[in-house]
Amino acid sequence: MNRNQVLPQVQLSSEPSALKRIDFCAPQSYQGAGFLSISDLPRVAEEASSVVAGDGFDWEVMTHFEDSPGSEPQQIMNLGLKGRIHLICQRCLQDCAVDLEENRRFVLVATEEEADAYPLEDEEQEPLVASQQFNLLETIEDEVLLSLPLIPKHPEGFCEPHATAFGDEESEGELEERENPFNILKNMKKN
Ligand SMILES: [Zn+2]
Repeated sequence: MNRNQVLPQVQLSSEPSALKRIDFCAPQSYQGAGFLSISDLPRVAEEASSVVAGDGFDWEVMTHFEDSPGSEPQQIMNLGLKGRIHLICQRCLQDCAVDLEENRRFVLVATEEEADAYPLEDEEQEPLVASQQFNLLETIEDEVLLSLPLIPKHPEGFCEPHATAFGDEESEGELEERENPFNILKNMKKN
């Protein structure tokens, strides 16, 4: 039996605050799309060097259930993100428009333990702990942060190096090590 055929499909509101409490424990699937401006995403706003009209992210979410042999069907969420943010170019130290486009797939699991035990080597999908008041806005914000380039730069030849900018390969390596986005995210989640 294909469970999706019998489950109601619920339309997600595009209102940012409505995305903070989604019931992922209910026997229903979701779809929705909207636009989040930089100010809707406070942690992203901290990273932005400036905000120009139109900056922000179109998002699209679809969930469905997939049969999984020997256990309950798994709830899968696909998230698409497309948008623009301004960051400091690490060559010239001026504003630089960065376009992002990401598609992510998640599997919703019941507990933290299940999420911790989820194989890290699975690059196709990541676990999220389902709840009745799931903060989808926070998940979208996490994914935007993870998608930001470690070293934002204008296209090659577009700008001149600033006297104090990191230029050589060695210092770029150091920067990359220090600013690993997974560490940034971990630290943010702790706070
Ligand atoms: Zn530049």
